[in-house]
Order: sequence, then C-alpha cells, then structure tokens
Amino acid sequence: MGKRFDSLVFPNGTNKAFTLSYDDGVVQDRRLVKLFEEYGAKGTFNLNYGVLGYKNSNGPFDISKIEKEEVKDLYRNQEVGGHGLYHSDLSNLGEPYSMYEIIDDKAGLEKLVERPLKMFAYPFGFYNDKVVEQLRIAGYKGARTVKSTYAFDLPEKPLILDPTCHHKDERLMELARDFCEKPSLKPQLFYVWGHAYEFDGDNNWNVIEELLKYMSGIKDRVWFATNGEILSYLEAYGMLEYSVDGSYIFNPSCEDVYIMTSFNTIECLKSGETTKIKDTPL
Ligand SMILES: [Zn+2]
Repeated sequence: MGKRFDSLVFPNGTNKAFTLSYDDGVVQDRRLVKLFEEYGAKGTFNLNYGVLGYKNSNGPFDISKIEKEEVKDLYRNQEVGGHGLYHSDLSNLGEPYSMYEIIDDKAGLEKLVERPLKMFAYPFGFYNDKVVEQLRIAGYKGARTVKSTYAFDLPEKPLILDPTCHHKDERLMELARDFCEKPSLKPQLFYVWGHAYEFDGDNNWNVIEELLKYMSGIKDRVWFATNGEILSYLEAYGMLEYSVDGSYIFNPSCEDVYIMTSFNTIECLKSGETTKIKDTPL
C-alpha cells in the first residue's frame, strides 16, 4: 500500500468530454443534426411533446417544430430529452400542473424514441426545489439550466446542471481552446447549449460549424457523448466498490469503467467484475 492517485477517465481513455444541448425541437434541428454527424459530435435535443408539428414561420425567422413522426429517425445518433409538454415556466405553476407538464412530455417522447428519457432542460431556465424533486420522481437523471459556468467541472448535482456557455457567448472559442490545450489532473466537461433557430435568426451557422470543426480536430483527446451517456458513465463510476487498500475494485454497474492509476496506466474495470489493481509505489 502507498500513496494512490486513481482518477476517472472516459471510455476512449481521455479525461475530457464534450457535449451539446439544443432546445425546443425546431425545424433547424435537421440542419444542426447533420452538422453534428458530419463532425462526430453528440448532443441532447430537448423537446416539448405537446407542440411537436406546430407551425410558426410568421416572425423574423421560422420557429416551427419538427413532426412527431420524424423524432426517432432524426435524432437516432443523438439523445432526446424532455423540455416540458408546452414549454411553461414550471417554477410558477401549481404542483399538479408542473407535474403534468413533466410527466406527459416524458411519456409522449418515450413512446416516440422507445426508451426512458434521462435528460431534461428547464423551460426558460426557471426552476425551484419542487420542480427539481418532481423531475427526480419522474425518473430524470439530469436537467440543464441556462447559467454559464465558464468552467469545465463535472456536474455535482446533475438535476441542476449548469452548462459551460451558450454557443453565442463571445468567449466560446477561447473556452474551447482552453479546454483542449490546458492539461488537467481532474476529468473535465465542456458543455455548450442553445437553440438551432438562433443560427437562422442571427445568421451565424458559422459559429457552430467553427466550434465543431475545431473540436473534431482534437477528437482523439476528447470523448464526444450525449448528456445522458456522460451521466450514466459518472453514475457507474460513483457505484464502484473499493477494498480498504484500494487494490480491489468491484464494478456493479452495467458498463465498463476506466480509471487512470498511480502508474499512469489505464485500467478497465469490467462491468460486474472485480479488478485487481497493481500495488502502488511508496
Ligand atoms: Zn425552450
């Protein structure tokens, strides 16, 4: 036994993860998803089940929603999350109504994608303790706010998940470069969010393309994953059971977990198995 320094690494052996999150299920998601796929990026698209298929192109730009029928296929390589049935401010409704917005949205979307939803995004970014608790009861694992952290810390409370920044933030590319170029002992998450209709409204599709291009250039050093994939992985890491001297680690979860050991080697802790870690130097 000696000094140990084990730390989490992501499934591709790096300690940095990149994820995106886009709200409202607007028709511009079709173009955005194509861009994500072109650059291998992964994101979570948070939809309002009650307004899918709603047409509204009367304003300065189109904010029509995609059709129910296209949800499963459009986001097949991405993640679908909830965003409230009708996009109401959940923090200012009676509890029965906010629960209805959360549950009916989740139930409807789950029928479309044929799996349980993990992620939610707070409509307008508004929430309170009761809404957080309702999301937990509904089975959500994480929920994104709109508060920029300008940092890369892993979420401590996934049901109040503050993103790194919005795509329109003037510091976007500076943060991307910091994230990629500055080494870190701790695992990090770069989390960008927005609405795809904003690219039409601001005529700035180049902003997201520049970011995705830059990130795809360093793909070997970053894990591209959906919000839900990252939360599942962190949950599996949190479930690890250690012997007192740390040399035996049992992974009771359903996914393999990777750690960097004191020897700078990566150990794969296989799902359902106990792994013996090499003795550490004094
Ligand atoms: Zn929204």
